[in-house]
Amino acid sequence: MTVTGARDPDAGLAPCAARQAQSRGRLHAEEPHPYRGEFQRDRDRIIHCTAFRRLIYKTQVFVNHEGDLYRTRLTHSLEVAQIARTVARELGLNELLVEAICLAHDLGHTPFGHAGQDSLNRCMRDYGGFEHNLQSLRVVDELEDRYAAFRGLNLCFETREGILKHCSRRNARELGELGQRFLSGGQPGLEAQLANLADAIAYNNHDVDDGLRAGLISVDELCSVELFRQEYEQICRNGRISPRATVNETVRAMINRIVSDLLDTTRANLAAAAPDSIDAVRMADAPLVAFSAATHEQHLALKNFLRQSLYRHERVLAMTQRADQVVSSLFNLFFDDPAVMPEEHARRARQWAQEQGDAGRARAVADYVAGMTDRYALSAYRRLVDDTIDF
Ligand code: MG
Repeated sequence: MTVTGARDPDAGLAPCAARQAQSRGRLHAEEPHPYRGEFQRDRDRIIHCTAFRRLIYKTQVFVNHEGDLYRTRLTHSLEVAQIARTVARELGLNELLVEAICLAHDLGHTPFGHAGQDSLNRCMRDYGGFEHNLQSLRVVDELEDRYAAFRGLNLCFETREGILKHCSRRNARELGELGQRFLSGGQPGLEAQLANLADAIAYNNHDVDDGLRAGLISVDELCSVELFRQEYEQICRNGRISPRATVNETVRAMINRIVSDLLDTTRANLAAAAPDSIDAVRMADAPLVAFSAATHEQHLALKNFLRQSLYRHERVLAMTQRADQVVSSLFNLFFDDPAVMPEEHARRARQWAQEQGDAGRARAVADYVAGMTDRYALSAYRRLVDDTIDF
């Protein structure tokens, strides 16, 4: 791609960063913009797309209507982008690209968080399955309908590479160049590696905050986790502040500690491997953006605690069951009679059924259901299946 505009979009970047000048480009060639670089355009397209706006009404852990203070997919995505941009700026990586990846990383999520994804995956078992990560790519590659010249957002290869965090070998074979690393090994660019870890840092820490706020986990229980206890005790030693501020200061200190470790470790990895381009990064044996072994352990311990105590809490599991009921009922209803869906989806179901049989019809239904927000899915369920459900 040629560099355009008044400023060089690659100015100030480390040699191993994703550079516009070395981008593998877009699927459909486009004229350069007079003053916006290509990764900036990607970021802007993501912010303006329909799926991005829907993230505000999609569950992260807590269903949207349980309270106004909990994270949604949208605020989660913003927190991921904030953490990743901080690190990118420090390391001389491409801040615009990493922001684009972070803002897009959850676009393919179903309503009701992982419960919805598991449910839809079961519905799609005989038709190729459903995977939210692959669906995020599908949203930006095919489902967004905004441009005259192409379907999807026509994002750069590097942005799509970052969105596709993992992928089965079977699906990778159908993705051409983008799926190659899942077949032959290799890493994505540093910005993609960074977005991946920023995601984990963000949810580990904000789920502590949300879980405490909801009263599903307690400070005492959290003190069994080394990372939390060390920071919590330090904050308490610093003087008396309100319980709310103590928790906020603890979460803040945990993020700061883990991000600082990520920076130090990644700097050391980059100094040792000395990759001189994004292609050298791609050929490395392991990701170069990483935690130290000790911090990795602590991060995993917190993650395991949250899995046991929060994600499997009876109140969260009760939501999981209702989510499964809503998602699977809607899927079955639309699969049996696609005409119940809005015309655009019904038309796609008819067309894909002609081309690919049941699997095509199921995919059209899965796209429609996956795109729903929590409240849209609930209101559809109440209208079409059972208006007495208590969610
Ligand atoms: Mg995420």
